[in-house]
Amino acid sequence: MLIDLHCHTLPLSTCSALEPGQLVELARERGLDGICLTEHDRAWPAGELEALRKRTRFPIFSGVELTTDQGHILAFGLDDPRGFSAIARAVYEAAKACGALLYLAHPARDGLLKVTHDTVEFFMSVEAVNGSDSRLQNMAASGLAQGFRLPGIGGSDAHTAAEVGRAATRFPTRIETQAELLEALRAGTYEAVALEH
Ligand SMILES: [Zn+2]
Ligand SMILES: [Zn+2]
Repeated sequence: MLIDLHCHTLPLSTCSALEPGQLVELARERGLDGICLTEHDRAWPAGELEALRKRTRFPIFSGVELTTDQGHILAFGLDDPRGFSAIARAVYEAAKACGALLYLAHPARDGLLKVTHDTVEFFMSVEAVNGSDSRLQNMAASGLAQGFRLPGIGGSDAHTAAEVGRAATRFPTRIETQAELLEALRAGTYEAVALEH
């Protein structure tokens, strides 16, 4: 099952040009089996997410992409009604307390790998394939992922129609609920893939 674990939509991510319905339509057309909405520093309200699922009849999961002092962090299973911290260590403590999983997004985008001796414990792994990054950046990210306890994930980081479906994470099992997604991530039996479309 192919799930794009990194997508942005309007209006929650103001930098995106994609409406949620349009994203789902394109994802389906391009052979994805599910998407995970990871807006910048905002989580989808549960009711709206459920309504989108019902309307589109497509597997839609939710995470968040947090802007922190250690770079962008993709968080899955992190629910914080008081808002998210911009301090990576605080995000890590919150994730540890609720069993959420953190991945460092596009770790080679700025030309340097940001993980240090002090911050490596924050992350389950990194985003090994990012659809908006270059091949070289993804090669560096994939290499970095080898040093972590779980494999690297893949996602398009789509903000526009052209970017939808460029990368995803392939899971061996059928995933229907948010709990199943977290379980499958924790199991680590997935791989990041770059896709052609
Ligand atoms: Zn980012
Ligand atoms: Zn992003």
